[in-house]
Amino acid sequence: MTLAANLGFPRIGARRELKKATERYWTGEIDAAALEAEGARLRADHWRWQSDAGIGVIPSNDFSFYDQVLDTTALLGAVPDRFKHPGGAVDLDLYFAMARGTDAAPAMEMTKWFDTNYHYIVPEFTRHQTLRRATDKPLTQYREARALGVETRPVLLGPVTWLSLGKSKDDGFDPLDHLEAVLDIYAGLLADLAGAGADWVQIDEPILVLDLSPAQQDALRRTYARLAQAGPQVMLASYFGALGDNRTLALSLPVAGLHLDLVRAPEQIDAVLEAGTDKVLSLGLVDGRNIWKTDLAAALDIASRAADLHGPDRLQIAPSCSLLHSPVDLQQEDELDDDLRSWLAFAVQKLEEVAVLARALREGARSVENQLARNAHDIAARRVSSRIHNPDVKARQAAVSDDDKRRRAAFPARQKVQQARLGLPRFPTTTIGSFPQTKEVRRARADHRKGLLSDADYDAFLEGETRACVAKQDALGLDVPVHGEFERNDMVEYFGEQLDGFAFTRFGWVQSYGSRCVKPPVIFGDVSRPAAMTVRWSAYAQTLTDKPMKGMLTGPVTILQWSFVRDDQPRRTTCEQIALAIRDEVADLEAAGIKIIQIDEPALREGLPLRRDDWQTYLDWAVGAFRLSACPVTDATQIHTHMCYSEFNDIMPAIAAMDADVISIETSRSDMELLQVFADFDYPNDIGPGIWDIHSPRRPSAAEMTDLLRKAAAVIPADRLWVNPDCGLKTRGWPETEESLRNLITAAQALRTEV
Ligand code: GLN
Ligand code: ZN
Repeated sequence: MTLAANLGFPRIGARRELKKATERYWTGEIDAAALEAEGARLRADHWRWQSDAGIGVIPSNDFSFYDQVLDTTALLGAVPDRFKHPGGAVDLDLYFAMARGTDAAPAMEMTKWFDTNYHYIVPEFTRHQTLRRATDKPLTQYREARALGVETRPVLLGPVTWLSLGKSKDDGFDPLDHLEAVLDIYAGLLADLAGAGADWVQIDEPILVLDLSPAQQDALRRTYARLAQAGPQVMLASYFGALGDNRTLALSLPVAGLHLDLVRAPEQIDAVLEAGTDKVLSLGLVDGRNIWKTDLAAALDIASRAADLHGPDRLQIAPSCSLLHSPVDLQQEDELDDDLRSWLAFAVQKLEEVAVLARALREGARSVENQLARNAHDIAARRVSSRIHNPDVKARQAAVSDDDKRRRAAFPARQKVQQARLGLPRFPTTTIGSFPQTKEVRRARADHRKGLLSDADYDAFLEGETRACVAKQDALGLDVPVHGEFERNDMVEYFGEQLDGFAFTRFGWVQSYGSRCVKPPVIFGDVSRPAAMTVRWSAYAQTLTDKPMKGMLTGPVTILQWSFVRDDQPRRTTCEQIALAIRDEVADLEAAGIKIIQIDEPALREGLPLRRDDWQTYLDWAVGAFRLSACPVTDATQIHTHMCYSEFNDIMPAIAAMDADVISIETSRSDMELLQVFADFDYPNDIGPGIWDIHSPRRPSAAEMTDLLRKAAAVIPADRLWVNPDCGLKTRGWPETEESLRNLITAAQALRTEV
């Protein structure tokens, strides 16, 4: 009998209750018992909702107070020495200390979970670390569900993925050397789960969709040879892509079940069915990472084919991955119009889709014909909606040529024209765009939203903030000022709100890391720009100073990357539409007298596909979109870009191909070491390596920043260096900002006389 299964439910709560409770625990407003009680309440609700939605296989241990990778690290007792933990159980405070750091010990690092916007805490491995079972969470949460009458399939992160995602802190130590120790602990845990009544467990090995080394392949073989015998039957979950060249390996592992992501990689079902297997196949047919309603007829097609070839009894229907990456419940979205609502499904609705598909296989399509008919109607209506399709946008896209993506002259010629026009000193100083978003700024924005502050008063307030900000920059002596971005809540939302084709939800929150959630805009239709978006503020700011005011835009790749993107056309097509809208803004800024325009692309690297083979295709269209947005201008207009990271070694050709006149990057924390990549590559254009780490309130001295600049000047020709902080200053306060900028300018002046 075909079962409806789920791989994981969002834990933040439909109203972000977990975020609020956790943060109140951190500030001491509630105690551990109250936080635990809130966690238990959320778990109970979520189990009940899943069961009400018709899910037969419900996960447990998918709940986490911070992160499921950190939960695994705690489970296995892999506490770094700096937390001075004597052994024994890892309690809540130690758990949060590892995530967030303490005065005595910095937090463990955090990084992106595959190609999602979720961030996990990176495990740290050393040679002499002793692993031991240090929590009982999988067992207690399984029992907790049971006590509520809900039979669950506990979820564990796979040992090989956990070890592969961690970092070795000892030179030459390979984390996979810990595998036997991990397997001992997992085997014990699985035996206990079986003893407690669990027939199945789900073990996640998302690394199965990556390029694997022979050592990782071997580790997977050893792991499942052991764990398949240890107790419950194992549903091995792959997700976020195709098994690809790991398919034979995955099918050869002696586990009872295998989950396939058939949203990202629908084609892989054929190869698996053709190869033949006696495993239970879990078909991930409902997108766990997006918000669109599933085309049930198309999904049922795939499922029926699988049922014919593989037998309905050895099938499960599931979301493509854990629903951690989708918002909780569409029911709450009372401000979305009916059209849009009828195209969407959040976690709860996705589970209903899973249940309908499973029932169709069990009892025949007739048994769910109403649901299928309604779904078919909504899918068809979306397909032809005039709100999605804008013929002007499509015509314009069809006419895009390579010429549109090229500056008129090459960089050396542009540089001359720009230097003559801008008259900047050597080592020009600038910032990345935003200035402190003070309490007053946030309060004014909130009051304006609520209607307590009129449009005119809000506008006057923003003018005042901008004026003061420009005056401060002039007084400090910054060479290229900015307006300060006081009018922006968020670098993507601000643009999305002004573009056609975007919509916003009220509660469409998704966990980003820990208690932090994001509410991405929804790109539902062809994107276009009804009116200029930033010209008003940049032009106003330019009237306040004789220095060249830098205009500030978010780039097309970043807007794409940080939104829920429509699934009815390739991402590159949507990205190009955004690029055309930004291109118009760039042209309007130039026409309004703005001589320098920065197009931020902090998310360019995040968009890299999981498999190396797919990188070049992505980089080609992503860089093409950036260039399309940047290239309507004359040679005299200077285009900047900014990226908040410093890992460029494997994408240098693409960065150079962006052909920005100036790129600013984050380098202060690496002591300029990462700048070497630009030197080795002979990066031809100007570079602003960040010399002030704005992620902390620390105020670096002029001497310290001078030292960093000297290091930069040792590897990059001095006439191509800019002087700036690592990133925007919106999270900083004014006193530290002014002091640090003064020091930064002193450092630039020192270099001008020295070099
Ligand atoms: N211009 C933006 C700012 O200064 C850039 C932010 C970012 O790179 N993430 O805030
Ligand atoms: Zn940045």
